[in-house]
Amino acid sequence: MMTVKEALNHILDSIVLLGLEKTDILSALGRVIGEDIHVPRDIPPKDNSAMDGYALRSEDTADAGAESPAIFNIIEDIPAGYVPQKTVGPGEAARIMTGAPIPEGADAVVKVEETKCDDAGVRIYAAARHGQNVRYAGEDVKTGDLVIRAGTILRPAEIGMLAALGRSFVKVYRRPLVALISTGDELVDIDDAASTGKIVNSNSYSLAAQVMECGGIPLQLGIAKDTKEALTEKFRAALRADIIVSSAGVSVGDYDFVKDVMEDIGVGVELWQVAQRPGKPMTFGSREGKPVFGLPGNPVSSMLTFEQYVRPAILKMTGHENIFRRTIRATLTHDIQKKKGIRYFFRSRVRSQGDGFVVETTGEQGSGILNSMVLANGIMVIPEDVAFVKAGSDVMVQLIDNSQNFTKEPEYLSD
Ligand code: AMP
Ligand code: MG
Repeated sequence: MMTVKEALNHILDSIVLLGLEKTDILSALGRVIGEDIHVPRDIPPKDNSAMDGYALRSEDTADAGAESPAIFNIIEDIPAGYVPQKTVGPGEAARIMTGAPIPEGADAVVKVEETKCDDAGVRIYAAARHGQNVRYAGEDVKTGDLVIRAGTILRPAEIGMLAALGRSFVKVYRRPLVALISTGDELVDIDDAASTGKIVNSNSYSLAAQVMECGGIPLQLGIAKDTKEALTEKFRAALRADIIVSSAGVSVGDYDFVKDVMEDIGVGVELWQVAQRPGKPMTFGSREGKPVFGLPGNPVSSMLTFEQYVRPAILKMTGHENIFRRTIRATLTHDIQKKKGIRYFFRSRVRSQGDGFVVETTGEQGSGILNSMVLANGIMVIPEDVAFVKAGSDVMVQLIDNSQNFTKEPEYLSD
């Protein structure tokens, strides 16, 4: 039986990057870019005005004061988007709008609020600095700059930058198609549950949601009966996906055919059983580099093993560097007993207290208790060599709830 560490290393070592695809920049949100982006032309493209006002030569304002304004002759009006036609000479000014190009000859803009205009021209009441209220060409990014590196996750800021650079399409890692197979004669789909009293194929939905959460595309193939033939058919249909994830049928029961079927269709089973709870019977193999996960059937086991193994694999395939959830240290509020030699993943509730965090398990930890996942915002991970953890000890908690990054009130207003 492998340890969690061995299983994780084995699985991740066998994962290769998916290819790139060209996509419009909005569809690239949250995905990893596969090309370096260099700046094709300065942004902004031209020196332009940061204010509505008058563009002039700062040297002409050197003697201007509150009681002795300098008077300028207005030679042109430059609205935003208009190209200046004239050169500003000594004693001249051009009326200019925010964002409009600075005309030849001028090196400063005086805000309209600091001027007075009449038939004689425009009066300036203070000396202007060279460069005052001028935004220079390339002050955001310059031609040739490497502005987004291959491997970057594209956020709204990067999407905006790509647009500013005139890029409507970029190369990003492809989203993997993840085939989901359920197996079990006791399973029915959602709408058939009430009448039959059978068990809903909930794994297909929790796993599909997990796939979506890490950027994959779920392909729900439904339920296979507990026969080799039915399961083989599903696995064959799944071969067109980038990853295959099945749940159930990996234990040692008479109807647990997943491993056999994997072998039959040419998937080398490289790993079966991991020293972990929940999720011990987990199986992994590959066929021509395509990863195939045989997750256990219990609803908590399948979600938990997806979280620990499939999620990092999908993130790695899609070019992500940071493929693991953040883990914090928290103070345990109660004693915990466990078996030695097995790594435990306890569904837990973590909350901040003082400068740190406290954590407790979400009650009954049976691998069929899906509600222990519903109540959880973290996974407390207790290593193999431990048999007992005393209340008050520090433990590791993996944060699995993305909504934890949010607060009800703006915390910066709390002082
Ligand atoms: P198995 O691994 O086939 O022995 O299944 C273990 C347990 O998980 C059984 O109680 C099944 O009813 C349950 N189970 C298996 N597959 C699913 C599924 N797709 N959705 C919900 N529960 C399941
Ligand atoms: Mg079964």
